[in-house]
Amino acid sequence: MDLGDGTRCVHGGHTADGRPGAPLHAGPVLSSTFHLGPPDDELPGYFYGRPGNPTWTALEEAIGALDGGECVTFASGMAAVGAVLRLTARASAAIVLPSDGYYVTRALAHTELAPLGVEIREVPTSGPWPDGVLDGATLLLVETPSNPGLDVCDLRAAAAAAHAAGALLAVDNTTATPLGQRPLALGADLTVASDTKALSGHGDVLLGHVTAADPALAQRLREARTRTGALPGPMEAWLAHRGLGTLDLRLARQAANAEALAHALREHSAVTDVRWPGLQNDPSHAVAATQMRRWNGVLRFTLPSVDAVSRFLAASRYTASATSFGGLRSTADRRQRWGDAVAPGLVRFSAGCEDTADLVDDVVTALDTA
Ligand SMILES: *Cc1c(COP(=O)(O)O)cnc(C)c1O
Repeated sequence: MDLGDGTRCVHGGHTADGRPGAPLHAGPVLSSTFHLGPPDDELPGYFYGRPGNPTWTALEEAIGALDGGECVTFASGMAAVGAVLRLTARASAAIVLPSDGYYVTRALAHTELAPLGVEIREVPTSGPWPDGVLDGATLLLVETPSNPGLDVCDLRAAAAAAHAAGALLAVDNTTATPLGQRPLALGADLTVASDTKALSGHGDVLLGHVTAADPALAQRLREARTRTGALPGPMEAWLAHRGLGTLDLRLARQAANAEALAHALREHSAVTDVRWPGLQNDPSHAVAATQMRRWNGVLRFTLPSVDAVSRFLAASRYTASATSFGGLRSTADRRQRWGDAVAPGLVRFSAGCEDTADLVDDVVTALDTA
């Protein structure tokens, strides 16, 4: 019998050391150095804090089991994305990225890889994609649901297209989380995420990971991490692992809140353009329903002006004006301020774990005021 998400989140990566006196909740291993043993012996599994640390290993086992592959954690989501881009970047070859995904990924590719001769192409998440856009590509990176637009792309089709062109498919799975979507099972080679968001879930950690279907790719990523030093601190890895324990519970509440908000916002006269893939008549719903296991807690909507967003945020008691998403508390972010090519009043809303009735009441009242 397959274990449920809650059991997997609670127990993943926690080894059963049942010896009397062993801690039930082991703490982070805060050591940069480890005993090597006799100087001519083979190195032990842990010998220095840059190549490996037992606290990462525990977290990587937990995330890797959920993603269905071999996980390598990184210092942040961008460190993980950067590792994927560098893994595949070749002079005179192309990397294909979403034109409407997380903006720093595009900035990294254009600023650091293009000058080395890597051709950067961009495609909209929901398509259509020009014929031949994958010709000569080594990597297709997609983000679904996309941040901030909540558009969706068909992962099975993307995997087939990437592989036909001889490229790897990497999926930025940050918005969905490993519970919401398993890109490797749909044909992707790599799943990458910012665990700063819902996976850690408490707004107190930066962390990222890449999970590879092929252990050889995971090994190359691990070696790259050791060379670049883009590694998570043991304390961060431990906090993320602690947060992961409640991901199932938090995601359930966040998705329920997102759904209730999406319905309420659609009825509100000041709001247009509500997008959440779980809504039956959302343009993304049909494709999302074929590939997502569970819905996400982030939605987007548009208010008529920047002023209206300011008034809404000032009037809402429970919505903090803050970037990032996936935390316990609801937050909202006006995305144009970061340079996203969206309407000035577009709000990315991260539904927190407040009670649904309280949150919907607060948001609707704040919109009435705005
Ligand atoms: C936040 C985010 C990142 C970057 O993650 P950091 O942990 O902030 O470095 C990458 N991709 C997506 C989709 C994100 O939302």
